[in-house]
Amino acid sequence: MRYTVLIATTVLAGAVSAASYASCEPDRVVLQVLGSGGPELNDSRAGSSYLVWLDGKARILVDMGPGSSLNLERSGANIADIDAVLFSHFHVDHSADFPALIKASFFAGRDTDLQVMGPDSNRLMPSTEQFVSRLVGDEGAFRYLSEYYEPDRNSAYKIQPHNMPLAPLEVTTRPLNNDIQLSHIPVNHGPIAAIGWRVQAAGCSITFSGDMSNRYDSLTRLAQNSDLLIAHNAIPEQARGIARNLHMPPTEIGKVANESGSKALLLSHRMLRTLERETETSGFIQQFYQGPLAYADDLDRIPLPAQFTP
Ligand SMILES: [Zn+2]
Repeated sequence: MRYTVLIATTVLAGAVSAASYASCEPDRVVLQVLGSGGPELNDSRAGSSYLVWLDGKARILVDMGPGSSLNLERSGANIADIDAVLFSHFHVDHSADFPALIKASFFAGRDTDLQVMGPDSNRLMPSTEQFVSRLVGDEGAFRYLSEYYEPDRNSAYKIQPHNMPLAPLEVTTRPLNNDIQLSHIPVNHGPIAAIGWRVQAAGCSITFSGDMSNRYDSLTRLAQNSDLLIAHNAIPEQARGIARNLHMPPTEIGKVANESGSKALLLSHRMLRTLERETETSGFIQQFYQGPLAYADDLDRIPLPAQFTP
C-alpha cells in the first residue's frame, strides 16, 4: 500500500478554511531556516530548506537544498522526530541533500515511516514517487538503500512518497497527524512542476511560497492570514526574461503578502543578484505591504508569532 495516502483529503475551493484561523499559541512553533540561498555555491548559504519545530521537536522539513543537511545537524534536531519532508519542486537547490537524510535516519534510530510529499509529474519533471524510486528504488542511483523504499525488504522504516496533483488551482488541506495540518496549492515556476505549502500546528500557520512567478495567482489563497509567509527573493524588481518567468519580483511578493493578510513576511532564497539590495527590495515590497518584514540567514530561528520590527 506504498502509494496510498493514509489520510483523508478535503479539497477546499477558495481558501484555507475558517477553522484554520485559530490564534497562534506562543512558544510552541518555531520556524528555523536551514538554507536561505538558492542554487549558487559562492554565496556562503545553503540551498533552500526550512525546519518546523513543534514543542521542542523537529517535525517537518520543507525542501532540502545543498548544504541543508549540515545545517540540520547544527540545528540540534533529532532527525528521527521528523514526520514528513515536503518538497516544493525538484530543482537541485531544493532537493539535493535528500538522499543524505535517508541513510542518516537509519543511524539516528528511526523506526517510523517517513512521509515524503511533493508535486506530481509534468512534461519536464518527475513525480515525487518517481523522484524517490529513481533515487532508492531497485533501479535507483542509490539502490544500495532500496530497503528503505521497496516493500519486500526488512528495514527499520520506509519512505512513503505521495504525489500532490498539479490541478485544480485550489487549496488542498489534509491532516498529517493529530498535531499538524498540511495544505498546498499548485504554483507557477515556469515549466517546472511546483507547489506552495502551508504548515499549521498549535494554531500557528506558516506558508512557503517555494520558487514561483505567481502567474497562477494562487499563493494568496494558500497564505490567507498566515502567521508567517516565507517568500523567495530570487530576483530584483528589474529582472526580465527567464528569471522573471520563474520568480516573483519584490512588488509581486508585496501584493501577495498584503492580499493574503499575512502577519509577517520572511524573504529567503537570497541570491547574489538580490543580496545587498535589501533596501531597494523592501521599498518595492512596502508599496503594497507595510507589515513586519525580515531577511533570512542560515540557522535563523523564528518563534511564532513572529516578532519582526515593521
Ligand atoms: Zn530555487
